[in-house]
Amino acid sequence: MKILFASAEAYPLAKVGGLGDVAGSLPKALKALGHDVRIVMPRYGMVQAPREEVVQFPVHLGDANHEAGLRTARIGQVPVYLIEKPDLYDRPKVYEYDDDGKRFGFFCKAILDLLPAADFWPDVIHTNDWHSALVPAFLRSTASQDERFRRIGTVLTIHNLLHQGLFPRQLFDWLGLPGSMWNHEGAEFYGQLNFMKAGIVFADCVNTVSPTYAKEIQTLEFGEGLDGLLRSYAAKLSGILNGIDHDVWNPAKDPFLIQKYSKSTLEKKSADKVALQKEAGLPPDAKAPLIGFVSRVTAQKGFDILVETFPQILQMGIQFVLLGTGEKKYEDPVSVLARTRSDLIVWLKYDEALAHRIYAGSDFFLMPSKFEPCGLGQMISLRYGTIPIVRSTGGLADTVVDMTADPSTGNGFVFRDYARDALLGAVQRAVAFYRARKGWRSIQRRAMSVDLSWKASARQYVALYERARGPLVGA
Ligand code: ADP
Repeated sequence: MKILFASAEAYPLAKVGGLGDVAGSLPKALKALGHDVRIVMPRYGMVQAPREEVVQFPVHLGDANHEAGLRTARIGQVPVYLIEKPDLYDRPKVYEYDDDGKRFGFFCKAILDLLPAADFWPDVIHTNDWHSALVPAFLRSTASQDERFRRIGTVLTIHNLLHQGLFPRQLFDWLGLPGSMWNHEGAEFYGQLNFMKAGIVFADCVNTVSPTYAKEIQTLEFGEGLDGLLRSYAAKLSGILNGIDHDVWNPAKDPFLIQKYSKSTLEKKSADKVALQKEAGLPPDAKAPLIGFVSRVTAQKGFDILVETFPQILQMGIQFVLLGTGEKKYEDPVSVLARTRSDLIVWLKYDEALAHRIYAGSDFFLMPSKFEPCGLGQMISLRYGTIPIVRSTGGLADTVVDMTADPSTGNGFVFRDYARDALLGAVQRAVAFYRARKGWRSIQRRAMSVDLSWKASARQYVALYERARGPLVGA
């Protein structure tokens, strides 16, 4: 099958969060299954590209013609089409600019307009999150006259429904989308253009990154205002759990670690703990349970309850390292607390290498998320024999089995309610289990035995692509 995988980020060319990990690894797994998969993304300032001739191609938005450049890079064996448009993309960050609507609206149309220039006609375009979610709408409007476009199926994967891409009507007009799509059954959402909504309506198939999140987003609590719409499109909605890239996340081969280890040499993991304590400036106490945390510092990740519970967690005689960036509202209290405590180390930055060392050197990995579409942190930590403590939501519920509920299959500690006491209780149970020492190695081995590779999920995506290119479902 020929697949064009559209994403705003793809590791290692550009990564902000989990979307980057997925876009850098799922296409590789599809390629390994024998499919002709190519990635398309904007060329930002930080994206290294081979020095070769840039192919110029026109991008049509309404009656206006723009120019863009096309260059090809690679992630492993997977070709990556880089769309060059310096005034929109040649900047130091991936997101968070005032003109993001224009930047990614342009991206959506450029994805289609590059097909003749690249002479690549995919069976399916796989769009991801709001940044590429207008592709199906464009495909059903401006490009629909051409038979080569009409044959293309579309899939939209929702990695996070919180971010929908909401912009004023003027953007809709600038993009040249047909007026017939401007209504509450189309791209409009309470007077604004909603990229994600347009994707949900016009894509042939829609999925999210875990089966539980696929159910959750059809409820008022998790639906972010689109739960009714998602319920009405339930027939084309499914959930496929993300995998992780075993080449990138493998404690036996990880170049960032002081000491490599595997399931059969788990005793070596303690050297990574000692090294992490040293790097963090923590006392070299082998017995103190070390809890790691690597994440965006936002409400989604559970900071409302974490900030309030921190002092009590620290009273348990544990050590805590936190790596992340995000909202000042949470960064501030956490770093103020860290100044008064020698057992809490906070790094407010993005650091890929340090993240690897935290996954390896910690005993536990905490994810008290308010909601979590899939979550990669808990999967990576399982692979590193670092026991996750998580709230039961979305992909966390689909990957972590509570030790207290089922000691023979448990691989982590799970709490249900989004509440301080529930979080505290889970950390207490985890710490008590660690201190008792009984069964510690077995839980670590069970964690490391979970199959978190893309193998099974990539096959499910292929089945989804088959559905998308077939007769329209639901829509
Ligand atoms: P999300 O996509 O919601 O941010 P995920 O758990 O799906 O969360 O993926 C987060 C990814 O980003 C993981 O690979 C995690 O290790 C990485 N990450 C998050 N914050 C940082 C940071 N400050 N430094 C390095 N890596 C980070």
